[in-house]
Amino acid sequence: MNKKEDKLDAIVALSKRRGFVFQGSEIYGGLAGTWDYGPLGIALKRNIQNIWWKRFVDDRTDMFGVDAAILMNQKVWQASGHASGFSDPLVECKKCKHTFRADQIADPKKCPDCGSELGSGKQFNMMFETQVGVVKDESSKSYLRPETAQGMFVNFKNIIDTQHPKLPFGMAQVGKAFRNEIAPRDFLFRAREFEQMEIEYFVNPKEWEKSFEYFREQMKGFMKDVGLTDSKVYELEVLEADRAHYSKRTIDFEYEFPFGKKELYGLAYRGDFDLKQHSDFSKVDLSYYDEEKKERFIPHCIEPSFGLDRTVLAILCDAYTEDEMGSEKDSEEKEKRVFLKLHPSVAPFKVAVFPLLRNKPELIKKAEEIFKTIKKEIPATVFDDNGNIGKRYRRQDEIGTPLCVTIDFETIEKGTGVTVRDRDSGKQERIGEVELIQYLLKKINRTN
Ligand code: ATP
Repeated sequence: MNKKEDKLDAIVALSKRRGFVFQGSEIYGGLAGTWDYGPLGIALKRNIQNIWWKRFVDDRTDMFGVDAAILMNQKVWQASGHASGFSDPLVECKKCKHTFRADQIADPKKCPDCGSELGSGKQFNMMFETQVGVVKDESSKSYLRPETAQGMFVNFKNIIDTQHPKLPFGMAQVGKAFRNEIAPRDFLFRAREFEQMEIEYFVNPKEWEKSFEYFREQMKGFMKDVGLTDSKVYELEVLEADRAHYSKRTIDFEYEFPFGKKELYGLAYRGDFDLKQHSDFSKVDLSYYDEEKKERFIPHCIEPSFGLDRTVLAILCDAYTEDEMGSEKDSEEKEKRVFLKLHPSVAPFKVAVFPLLRNKPELIKKAEEIFKTIKKEIPATVFDDNGNIGKRYRRQDEIGTPLCVTIDFETIEKGTGVTVRDRDSGKQERIGEVELIQYLLKKINRTN
């Protein structure tokens, strides 16, 4: 593979071929900026989400999960500044009428598609507007939320009143966000409907730097958990002029995608902007009383923000590998192998179980027995007896299954166990039935 864009095309093709991700509304020609996850994609996405939730919510005592409604009172977006300011610069070609984001094209005067002159441009608000209820007027206007963050700020008082937390504490949420992007592109990278995993961590203003640095490390820890290659992640200190209106400091974590180094996650110091705005607009007191210091103030906020779909894409790009290895039929014969070198923690299936041949009932019976035993301990295990064994290995390689267990005649005739094939090296080992579960668990880094 020579060109970098070819890699993205290959990943898009694999995603469709194997049931990770399909184009949204595909049978009607699609809907730009929307993607549908298939069985493998949803398993990968859920694994990422669960790892995130475990690290940032379940393993801690200072984080409170919420799941706020996507539709919110329009005043939320007036207070947050999105109604007036959540826009990107739009330019339209005078000839072909194609539209572009002015800050994403090389020459803001020349159409990248036909070379003609571009119009003068305007700000385009990216929020999807909708109407709530039967009466269509200004008062029933609402929006599909463009970020999950506001769902947490508006619930700040509910958390204080019901959970009685002490500062510092945080709120966490995973959910859909919608942005009418001018130019959705690069597969899952820039979509119009996507998922975010966000934290709003509230601190005493005097201590914001400590928490900022702490979450910077936590974010790196998460990237390690899901197996992203360290050297492909870059930290970028965002200059004041480029920061969002609410941010006093921002670090972008960029990832080396096949189409360039682009933002994967953001870490922002939002100060007291949001709670103050919501206090002003709602007339509800959103301050915090520190019992020990006997002081009342509006906490400041640190926001680690993660795109879930961008994580799926980064993981697929990181894992996509092509190499040459001897085929199973003839070790002299070299053939191209495509595989996903997924970290076992995110792989949709951890183990695949096959009978060596599909027309031998005694092999199938034994394979089914072993499959059931493994599945009890490792639920993400799949049984595969489709096609010949070579095809099954290829299929499991392409979906990133780390281990394949094959039941052959030796298993039933000599009782010498099964073969376990490692996805990355292609090497097989014979493992006794008694040790099998422990061996597999160790390989996929689980101790239970
Ligand atoms: P960009 O500059 O790429 O448009 P942003 O800075 O506007 O992104 P944020 O508002 O900080 O993004 O959103 C937080 C996270 O949500 C991003 O780091 C990214 O992972 C994800 N995200 C934002 N926009 C999209 C999108 N259109 N499609 C998929 N994920 C997105």
